[in-house]
Amino acid sequence: MSERLQKMMANFGVASRRASEKMITAGRVRVNGKKVTELGVKVNGEDAVEVDGHLLTQSDSKVYFILYKPRGVISAVKDDKNRKVVTDYFTDVSQRIYPVGRLDYDTSGLVLMTNDGQLANKLMHPKYHVNKTYVAKVKGIPENKELEQLRHGVQLDKKHKSSPAKAKVLSIDKKKETAIVSLTIHEGRYHQVKKMLEGVGHPVQKLKRETYGFLNLDGLTSGDFRELTNQEIAALK
Ligand code: URA
Repeated sequence: MSERLQKMMANFGVASRRASEKMITAGRVRVNGKKVTELGVKVNGEDAVEVDGHLLTQSDSKVYFILYKPRGVISAVKDDKNRKVVTDYFTDVSQRIYPVGRLDYDTSGLVLMTNDGQLANKLMHPKYHVNKTYVAKVKGIPENKELEQLRHGVQLDKKHKSSPAKAKVLSIDKKKETAIVSLTIHEGRYHQVKKMLEGVGHPVQKLKRETYGFLNLDGLTSGDFRELTNQEIAALK
């Protein structure tokens, strides 16, 4: 499949499409050894594209996945104690992908994985306010005033208070005195959901992240992953 040179460069993470066009017209790009300065040239997987003398290879191309992380897996690329890590699921992917943000070892759910550092940095910046919805099994049955506290923000530690969250009780188990609570937050502080729920008197027994922005786990079971569609990638950027 052939595509425009500037699009291929953008997909390989060289620069945005517009900035790649400028690099082409500035004479910084060679295709199969020949300098290209005009826009509109098409390339395919067979063509050798060099930017400032650096040959673009498959490992430069950007890839995007969502993983349904099971409990008992570390959100990192390696672990000192040799426990299972999220990248262990991607043995067939040659790019060096990593998780965007972290879920605790004992938390399951949606983890975005990519080798696109620019996007990862953007999404993790608090300014972008990516909403994440968690479903937690908690001890005790939250009362309205506790839900209101979550909605207003809870003191997480001496310095930090959480921003207002969306909180609702999805179901209760009167016999076991537990409840299933849904909490939507846009921050990602260390153990944030656990601290918020503990802070209102309902320690978390089990935690799962169900959504990340507009992405959800539909169609995936624990340990599955899928590549994002082009539309999803465009919408994240
Ligand atoms: N909040 C937590 O407490 N744990 C997670 O894994 C994610 C959010």
